[in-house]
Amino acid sequence: MKRNSAGINDSEGHLQVSNMGKTKVGVLGATGMVGQMYIKLLEDHPWFEVSYVAASPRSSGMRYSEAVEGRWHMQTGIPNDVGQLKVEDANTVDKALGKCSFVFSALEIEKQAIRDLENTYAQNDIPVVSNASAHRWTEDVPMLIPEINYSHLEIIPIQKKNHDWKKGFVVVKPNCSLQSYLMPIYALEKGGFEVRRIIVTTLQALSGAGYPGVSSLDMIDNVVPFIAGEEEKSEKEPLKILGKIEKNKFVNNDSIRISAHCNRVPVLDGHTACVSVEFGERKPSKEQIIQIWREFRSLPQELKLPSAPEQPIIYRDEENRPQPNKDRDNDKGMAVTVGRLRECNVFDFKFVGLSHNTIRGAAGGGILNAELLKIKGFL
Ligand code: NAP
Repeated sequence: MKRNSAGINDSEGHLQVSNMGKTKVGVLGATGMVGQMYIKLLEDHPWFEVSYVAASPRSSGMRYSEAVEGRWHMQTGIPNDVGQLKVEDANTVDKALGKCSFVFSALEIEKQAIRDLENTYAQNDIPVVSNASAHRWTEDVPMLIPEINYSHLEIIPIQKKNHDWKKGFVVVKPNCSLQSYLMPIYALEKGGFEVRRIIVTTLQALSGAGYPGVSSLDMIDNVVPFIAGEEEKSEKEPLKILGKIEKNKFVNNDSIRISAHCNRVPVLDGHTACVSVEFGERKPSKEQIIQIWREFRSLPQELKLPSAPEQPIIYRDEENRPQPNKDRDNDKGMAVTVGRLRECNVFDFKFVGLSHNTIRGAAGGGILNAELLKIKGFL
């Protein structure tokens, strides 16, 4: 084993948090689509173990295995130890006290109720790593994609001070729809090519709507060209993620304009994005773009965080890739797969991006956020 500034690397180079047992974590909304993915991905996690599960009053009081009976959607079985846990009511914060060090929030309730509830957990010294959209525009809450805006963690001490919270804080992840194109766009900007305008059409999977989601009668043999609130999220959330902290608040990036069309398609998992990009004065060649994507690495890769994909952007040369059922699971479902890069008659280039919406776009992204928070000493 070798020690570095952040901890210890094992023989395969994965970073181990030093001198400690696993951190106990809770999952709010553990019975839902995203919550189940958390339970699956956290089984055998090297740093975290699930010690607390909570959902709606409908599920509270049941063993976890009973609460998800008939609606367990993962291909692997329910982990035995979690199956035995009693599900608590996520609205009763007291129940979590002493049972976990922080919580992942994957609740589907009204926005103001989620904001209030997540604040109450934070106030009670339980940090919240959230998938919900409620806090994404709160001015002192970071909206994280660890490969892009890890520096936004600097707002956490300010957030804690603003609320007089001692240990608790809230960190959110962005909407799943933008995961398929924002990292490739960011890599090009970081590579020295300013991006000015983007037009993106998303083809979003059914699992993105939770369970039971959109009715089968609406989805079989069909495409639904509307997902409530999704186009606005796809257009605006990147501006905060690519923005900066000024005077203790986030200031959005105002140099990129995005226009999004979001569609629900009959695919189980994996959001596809068809993207046209206009660059500023300096235009890259096709070869330069592919090279930038293939060489792109960031802090999660340098730190070898357990959930970080080794190669965050995978470029495929075949003319008919990426495809959801062939490419969504690349590198543990955490890589963004791109392809079909070609010149655009209106903008400069166009390409297709794909990411797994309940892994990179939801639970896996949340776990990567928590790993970064852990290694940086926030958890
Ligand atoms: P879901 O399948 O509908 O699950 C919702 C969860 O919230 C369940 O555990 C449910 O518990 C719980 N819940 C519902 N009403 C509640 C209440 N009144 N009090 C406490 N808990 C309550 O939804 P999902 O797709 O997993 O999404 C969860 C969150 O992640 C949402 O905020 C969503 O926007 C976000 N998200 C989802 C995706 C995705 O790809 N699906 C991607 C990114 C972000 P019961 O089982 O007891 O009803």
